[in-house]
Amino acid sequence: IPLVYFDNAATSQKPQVVIDAISKYYTTINANIHRGVHTLSQLATDAYEVPRQSIQRHINAKHTHEVLFTSGTTHGINLVASGFTQFLKPGDYVMVSAMEHHSNIVPWQMLCERTGANLHVIPMNEKGELIMEEFDKLISEKTKIVSVNHISNALGTINPIKYIIDKAHAVGAAVFIDGAQAAPHIRPDVQALDCDFYAFSGHKTCGPTGSGVLYGKEEWLEKLPPYQGGGEMIKEVTFEKTTYAGLPHKFEAGTPHIAGGIVLGTAIDYLNGVGFDNIAAYEHTLLEYGTQKLLEIDGMELVGTAAEKTSVISFNLKGIHPYDVGTLVDKMGIAVRTGHHCAQPVMNAFCIPGTIRASFAFYNTVEEIDALVTAVKKAQMMLS
Ligand code: PMP
Repeated sequence: IPLVYFDNAATSQKPQVVIDAISKYYTTINANIHRGVHTLSQLATDAYEVPRQSIQRHINAKHTHEVLFTSGTTHGINLVASGFTQFLKPGDYVMVSAMEHHSNIVPWQMLCERTGANLHVIPMNEKGELIMEEFDKLISEKTKIVSVNHISNALGTINPIKYIIDKAHAVGAAVFIDGAQAAPHIRPDVQALDCDFYAFSGHKTCGPTGSGVLYGKEEWLEKLPPYQGGGEMIKEVTFEKTTYAGLPHKFEAGTPHIAGGIVLGTAIDYLNGVGFDNIAAYEHTLLEYGTQKLLEIDGMELVGTAAEKTSVISFNLKGIHPYDVGTLVDKMGIAVRTGHHCAQPVMNAFCIPGTIRASFAFYNTVEEIDALVTAVKKAQMMLS
């Protein structure tokens, strides 16, 4: 059976240019970077700095050294949460939202445990939208950092991050935006947003696994301590004292995922070639079509019906466990995600064990959505 791939929120498929770029890197310029004077090392080093510049342009960062290469969103969040240890004291607050991925909850909880700070959670309504009046009540001068996702992986909600950023700044709090789900659909403008940090994963944006970006404002990256110690992040090492390298190297200890960084640049260039406006418009038609078709099924319960959404449809069939539907639909050649989507608090809020999640990318089609609808109907018949 031909595969219909609707698990794009978990990871995207890779275009041929990306696959070819990985092979080209290892065949032609593979060497360790920043280390050798030899030609090959120089070629690899130069190639590794090119994507930093294209990503800087892509997200409109002020400086190239504000773009850090990471292994993904999780790495970026942990780097900042770890660095904030010295800025927090007992009684301070860290704020997240009710619809965060576990990777944007756990590192902040660990930070609170280390420092005696407390966690505030912006609640959401039954549509899966953050309740801004509650956010306004929670935020105060005691809030030191707010970390929210730009787009929810479990619900597809696009959050009002500009409002959150401005309000947080008004009380002196920093803002971290988890852009893991936004980066494949939206071109973020970090200067217009004025966020302090913005992280995303390469593998969700048509790039390789193990690649990612953490944008940080220069003033914050200067203030934060290094996350890991090791080679390449130092200026000078003696047994008495080590001084650190400047940005971005201070945060890039050890041999990085060189091919990953280079090819992430290829992936971002590719997406810009397709055009983010085109991607957003096309995916919106898929979302509208899919929502309408799925709603024609009896017993369809959509989970997450925010006014502002990307192309994620989370749903359940009345009286049927999501795993049963997911398993049967998979047997019919359709890859959807089933479970809690690493967002257990979201599932708890809706009092459900999980959902079936179809997440569309720009390479999906309405015919594939028709196949999903047919498969869900068949599964429903078999299970009831
Ligand atoms: N945040 C969100 C909203 C996500 O969807 C994901 C990935 N599912 C992550 C963070 C973590 O990304 P990664 O596993 O690539 O580090």
